[in-house]
Order: sequence, then C-alpha cells, then structure tokens
Amino acid sequence: MTKVLLSLFLAAIFVCPVESKGNNIKENEEKISFHQLLQAVSEEYVKNPSIPDTSQPKVVNPADVSILAGDNRYWVTIYASDKYERTKALEAGLDIVEISGKQVSGIIHAKSIKTLEEKGFVIALKMTLSEYAQEFFKDFPPNDSAYHNYDEMIEVLQKIADSNKDIASLFSIGKSIEGREIWTLRINSSVKGTQSSSKPGAVFMGAHHAREHLSVEVPLLYAVWLLENRNNPDVKKYIDTLDIYIMPMVNPDGAEYDISTGKYKWQRKNMRVNPDGEIGVDLNRNYAYRWGGPGASHSTWSDTYCGPAAFSEPETQAIKKFVEERDNLKTLISYHSYSELVLYPWGGVDEPIANEKDRKVFITMAQEMAKYTGYKPQQSSDLYVATGDTTDWTYAAKGIFSFTFEITPKSSYSGGFYPGIKVIEKTVTDNIKSAMYLLSVTHNPYSVLGK
Ligand SMILES: [Zn+2]
Repeated sequence: MTKVLLSLFLAAIFVCPVESKGNNIKENEEKISFHQLLQAVSEEYVKNPSIPDTSQPKVVNPADVSILAGDNRYWVTIYASDKYERTKALEAGLDIVEISGKQVSGIIHAKSIKTLEEKGFVIALKMTLSEYAQEFFKDFPPNDSAYHNYDEMIEVLQKIADSNKDIASLFSIGKSIEGREIWTLRINSSVKGTQSSSKPGAVFMGAHHAREHLSVEVPLLYAVWLLENRNNPDVKKYIDTLDIYIMPMVNPDGAEYDISTGKYKWQRKNMRVNPDGEIGVDLNRNYAYRWGGPGASHSTWSDTYCGPAAFSEPETQAIKKFVEERDNLKTLISYHSYSELVLYPWGGVDEPIANEKDRKVFITMAQEMAKYTGYKPQQSSDLYVATGDTTDWTYAAKGIFSFTFEITPKSSYSGGFYPGIKVIEKTVTDNIKSAMYLLSVTHNPYSVLGK
C-alpha cells in the first residue's frame, strides 16, 4: 500500500508541481527552487541552439578536443567473451566503460597496452582519447554551464540549508587531498551536523569519479527537491523519522580539474600525486573489501589504480570515518555514470551474497528501483569482478544495503560521460523516484520481503 501511495504521490508531483507554500522556507530572492533549477537547464538548452544533439553523428571542431592532444590514453575495443575475461582486462589496466556482447570498450594508458596484448587480448579498435573524443563528443563546457561546479554546488547546499534551518544542516566529512571540504547535507528533524541520531539513516553520494558530472546533479537536485516538498505528507514522514545524508561530490578535486580549462579532461581518479609523478588513485577501487584483488590495477598510470593500500586516500578515509561513526545507517546509493544499471554487491567476487535473506532484499530493492528508472538491475560482478568499491565495503563492514547506480546515458552514442544538459531533467526526476523508494524501506529494508 505504501508503494501505491508513493507512486500516486510521485505521479501527482510530476504532473502538477507541489509548491512549497506554508512551510518554513523564507520567501526571498535567494531561495533556490527545484523547478527553477530544472527550468534554467531547459531554457539554456532552448536559447543555445549550438548545443548538439549527441544522438546524431557528429561534425566536430577539432579545436574542442585539443586539450586531449598530449594525453597518453587510448580508447580501445577488445574481445572478452565473459566476465572472467573482462576482469583480466581490468587487471591489465583497462578501465572498462562499455560492454556490448563479446566486445568491451574502454580507456587504457599507452603503457598498459602491451600488458593487454601479452595477456592474449585481441584489440579490435584503438584510437587516442583525443581521436575518440573527436569521433563522439562535442558537448563542451560552455554549453554545459548548467552543471554545478564545486562552488556552485556549495552555494546551492548552503542556501537550502539556510532556508530550512529547523531540519537541515551542512557539514564536511573531511578534506580532499587538495584540501577541499567534502560537504554533506543532513536532513534530520531532531539533530544537526555531526550529532548522533538513532533514526534509521540513508546516504546518497555522487562523483567518486571526476568526469561523471551528472552523478553530482542527481543527489544535489534531490536534496533541493526533498526540502522544497518537505510539507508533502510522504516526504514529511521520511524527514520526521529518518536521518538523511547527501554528499553530491566525493571527489571535488578531480571534478574541478576535469573542467579547469573549459574543456573536459576525462579525469576519473582523485588528484593524488603518486611517487612516480602519475596523477590519481581510483577512489572506487580504494575501499578495503578485498582491496587490490581482481579487477583493480596496481599501475599508477591506470584509470583503475587502486592506490598503495586500502583507504590510502583522504576522500575514502573521510567516508570510512563517516560510516564507522554511524551505526544507524541502513541504506546507501552511490551514483556513477554511465550505462543505466542498478548494481548490488558483490562486485569483488563472483559469488552471490551468502546470506540468503540479505540477497533477496538486495535483489528486490534493485528490481524496484530499476522500475522507476528503466535501468537494468544486476549483481555488480556479473559485469566484471572489481574489488575495492564503495558498496562492497559498506555492506561488508556495516551491513548497509548499498547500491551503485550507473545512471544515464546508455552508451557513447548518447553522450557517454558528457551527455550534455538535455538529459539532466529526466535523469534527475527518474532517480528521485528510486531515491524515494529507498527512503520508503530505510526503516526496515527486510520489510521488502513481506511477512
Ligand atoms: Zn564511476
């Protein structure tokens, strides 16, 4: 019944936006509105006809991708017939981005190509990252200014926290390697900041990976939407009874670096300067569960470099501390892009979760959340085995029902990591529905199993 009510409510709000009348939001020009934000995105798209339709074949101005001219990475397509082969490819240093039948495509450093060949992989297609970008992408930052950079994200979080002081607070869980705060918005009607709470907790995270900018928009705009609809009975119920945390940008240094020149740099990792001068550790290979095992690279130059040790990075250390200090956390979504998948543990081993009850909860929740988004639910390691990710650790260490969402789009042909602003509205609104489902079961995830 809850589910029916939830669907009706969501259907209602998307047809007829709920105004935030009569709540505690201050009526002033500084107010940030969910619909204004989405409208701003749409208007920018309408008034800027130069924004290309990325679903069509491209004619590209090579100057747009000149920033990648000196980049030592390649886009390759190889044959890998099953997930075991794909795991081997990851270990050779290939950052797998797309899987299509027996073919796998992704990004690999020039230094790792030999390793890939030595392991017996046949390379069907190979082009420099610059050539690849010219082939597929021409949505570059001037057109994408509706996306929130680090300062703009802080501004939004600050404003909505200020407008909802009775239930929202903003705090940092720690600093990135370059010293940026990892800001977290907390929604809790009883306590603020880092005070402890016994209410069941839900966590939403974005941008472990720098170039996945859409994964910032989803949790950020969800925060705006939740507070704007705070007086809606369903939202109010969750705000009154849950402890909700939203951290839209876990890797702020990488995200800022990716846009620092006005042209995307395809950064994935954080900005750690490794001893050999290579930049970055893959934060989503740096968590402790089976760290450094299958599917992680130990080469500093690889996009999937797992770091010198588990939790070697300040960003993952901050998450570790945050999670370990809170025994009330029950559910979690870590947003990534792209591929349109809802993934659940394990990612680091082939086996399914041994605890049958937990496994059924994961499968049921993933299937339900997939319904709202049209994404495909599956065990993470069914794609390939990759150790050291967030959700394996949060489930293994604390039993949190944790999901990795690979959000829109589905492939390179629809924009890959840089799908432009036209996808923001649908992606955000679809994902709000699955995020509301997550909240609806956070009190007791086992309730999804019925009696
Ligand atoms: Zn990612």
